[in-house]
Amino acid sequence: DDAGNVKVVVRCRAFVRREKEKGTQCLIRMDPATNKTTLLAPVEDTESSTRRAYEDKEFVFDKSFWSHDEADPYYAHQEDVYRSFGEEFLDHNFNGYHTCIFAYGQTGSGKSYTMMGSPDNPGLIPRTCEELFERIRDEPTPNTSYHVQVSYFEVYNEHVRDLLAARTSPSMYLKIRESPKDGVYVQGLTETEVKSYADVERLMRIGDSSRTTASTKMNDTSSRSHAVFTIRLKQITHSLLSDETIERTARMRLVDLAGSERAKSTEATGQRLKEGGQINKSLTTLGRVIAALADPKRQNSKGRRPKEVVPFRDSVLTWLLKDSLGGNSKTAMVACIAPSDYDETLSTLRYADQAKRIRTRASVNQDCMS
Ligand code: ADP
Ligand code: MG
Repeated sequence: DDAGNVKVVVRCRAFVRREKEKGTQCLIRMDPATNKTTLLAPVEDTESSTRRAYEDKEFVFDKSFWSHDEADPYYAHQEDVYRSFGEEFLDHNFNGYHTCIFAYGQTGSGKSYTMMGSPDNPGLIPRTCEELFERIRDEPTPNTSYHVQVSYFEVYNEHVRDLLAARTSPSMYLKIRESPKDGVYVQGLTETEVKSYADVERLMRIGDSSRTTASTKMNDTSSRSHAVFTIRLKQITHSLLSDETIERTARMRLVDLAGSERAKSTEATGQRLKEGGQINKSLTTLGRVIAALADPKRQNSKGRRPKEVVPFRDSVLTWLLKDSLGGNSKTAMVACIAPSDYDETLSTLRYADQAKRIRTRASVNQDCMS
């Protein structure tokens, strides 16, 4: 077993055009040498009726990615983000460990850019998949066959929707099951065998367009839904010496969470209230799960705390991520922050700070057949 803390990194995006046009103030400073991130108190808004005290706040994470100003020598490109831990996580997968990387942050903070990116600036998911096939091609282990499967689903309104199913309709929701052998899984989810990066690219496009189609119909689903991209890597090695067959299966999960502002109460009404309320449920439950897992009492006690204390089963998202958050997985969180929103950024940084204390215990997933 390999126990370790959840790796937590933070990334600050550039101003988008709207912010540039307004001459928005940047409230984030990052020191790449110490990985310190500082959130600065905004200049007092004299027109605001609610006067309140802001303070500078400092945080230290495993890594601070400064993607705000491209002219800066410390600017973190997509490639830098991948090299700093995406690559390492792929190493873990080849060694037989499950991994999970999830992006957290308010809508518009750069979660999808970091996870999926654009065709010109691919993010963690395409880079991981591309390198996966490069490694299989260029440095295969002798007598090993490789099998790669991909699935892609979203959790919307506490329902699971298959993004790779040939035909989907909002009524085609999948059920979650739990078995001693497979753990928690989505029943009937499309798992497609892929032979090359081109295959994966095609599936990413299908999945993303399935997500986008729904979003134009249902009022910006992508900020309300959690997208979970999963790659399963199976390596079957036959040892000529011992005549044994060793099978290693690793699962990598790449999660683009709903906008964290959804975790708070909304003033929306009708359908939007219902959606907001239910997304509240997955994100607020995630918050409770993280708080429970980060609780120092849980780390120190010799005997395990009872499982029920961590409310994994209270929402679809946390139930599905149970292993990734509290069990057999090496896990990383990317906290994405916008440069000018004090309250949302503070809330994201606090969330991330708590996640640092979570420990998981990963083991190699290997079967030996002689
Ligand atoms: P989210 O998925 O968190 O809602 P997006 O990833 O869609 O946010 O990002 C919002 C906008 O900011 C998009 O236009 C995106 O292209 C841009 N953006 C986000 N992160 C970066 C970055 N690191 N560098 C440049 N542009 C970025
Ligand atoms: Mg997004």
